Formats: sequence, structure tokens, C-alpha cells
Amino acid sequence: MRHHIDTIPVWDAYRTDCECPMCHLEAENEKNYVDAFMGGSVMEPDVRVEVNKYGFCGRHFKLMLNNNNRLGVALMAHTYLKETMARLGKTSMAVNEPAKVGFFSRKAPTSGTDFSHITDTCILCDRLKSTMDRYVYTLVYMWKHKSAFRQQLQKSKGLCLKHFAEILNAAPEQLNGIELKEFTKQLNELEMENLARLEKEIEWFTLKFDHKNADKPWGTSKDSLDRTILKLRGKCV
Ligand SMILES: [Zn+2]
Ligand SMILES: [Zn+2]
Repeated sequence: MRHHIDTIPVWDAYRTDCECPMCHLEAENEKNYVDAFMGGSVMEPDVRVEVNKYGFCGRHFKLMLNNNNRLGVALMAHTYLKETMARLGKTSMAVNEPAKVGFFSRKAPTSGTDFSHITDTCILCDRLKSTMDRYVYTLVYMWKHKSAFRQQLQKSKGLCLKHFAEILNAAPEQLNGIELKEFTKQLNELEMENLARLEKEIEWFTLKFDHKNADKPWGTSKDSLDRTILKLRGKCV
């Protein structure tokens, strides 16, 4: 077994009846990580070393700022900035010097320098990704071993497209042959049915703006714009 299996959070997420239980799990875990970084864990020396090395992406800096501990964020930002300056110095020195050609100088053709180890790192994104990889594995495991979960899945509203794709891609690690076919079919049909349901809901949302429909009931469409964006792009709202 590649991952530690903890099925309870997946069951709990599926009981929320939302557009994507995996997004629900991701949001919960993200909040816990933000709280942990703003709490005591960041003072542990090994965590501090990692924070200084990788820092946080814009989204996660912003979420930490919302936590009302600006000094805590500032202390991390300060040490991360100092380490980043040292790394940036080394990396930018590796950029090719312009070559002198003839009388005028112009830039030599270059493939560019990779700055991604400075600009694209986030300790919180990394942790969240490995946690979510574990839950993706767990979901497939539960489908394989627990028939009650297959029924629960069938009653759900599918997934956001990001998690739908991740789960389908992860399935062959644990399933093959007829089982893999069955899983893919169930997930696909469920997703298509729920996209069709949502398409009707958001259509009615737009039609409600027509004055002829002003007095007609919203039905389930009132929050369908937020749910549609979540379905299309995951937990960005
Ligand atoms: Zn999702
Ligand atoms: Zn991040």
C-alpha cells in the first residue's frame, strides 16, 4: 500500500452533498495548514528552515494575512526574503552576458535561465498536494474495497473537473481490467449527469435576470454561479 488509508475524512466530505467532496477536503486541509503555520509549528527549527527555503505562493501569503497575525507573516517574509536574495544573486549571475557582435552589442541567443526554484515554490502547496494525493488514492481504494462507498458515490454530485481528471488518472494504480472499466464508467456517467444538471441551473440563473421571470421561483439556481465556477475550476471561490 502506497499511502496510509484514512477513510473517515472522505466519508465526511461525501456527506456534505457539495459539488466536489475533494474540494471540500482540500479546503479543510488548506485551512488547517494555514492555521498551523500561523500557530506554533512555524517556530520549530526544521519547519523554519523549509519556510525560508520555499516560502509561500501569493494565495497562501494572502490566506495567512487574513489570519490577523501580520507580525507572524512579516517574520516569515523577512527571513524568506533574505534567503531568496542570496539564491537570486547566484541564479541571476548565471544569465548569459550579452555577446559583443561587431560594433554594436546585442543579446546572444539563449534558452533563458530557470528561475522556477525561486518564483514557483510554496511549502503549503507542496504539503497540500501530498495530502490530496493521499485522498485521491483513498477514494479509489474505498471504491475498490467498500461497496457502501460505491453507493455513496453514486448519490453524490460528481467532482470538479480538476479532481475528476486526477482521480481518473490515479485509478489504474489500483484498478485494472473490468474493475477499471466499471469505475471509469461510473465516474464518467456521474460527471456528465451532474454537468447537465448544473448547466440547467445556471441557465435558469441567467434567465432570472429577464423581467418576465422576476417573480418566478429561483428553484435551486440561486447559488448556481458559484457552484458552476467551482465545478469548472475547483476551490477558487
Ligand atoms: Zn474539486
Ligand atoms: Zn501555495
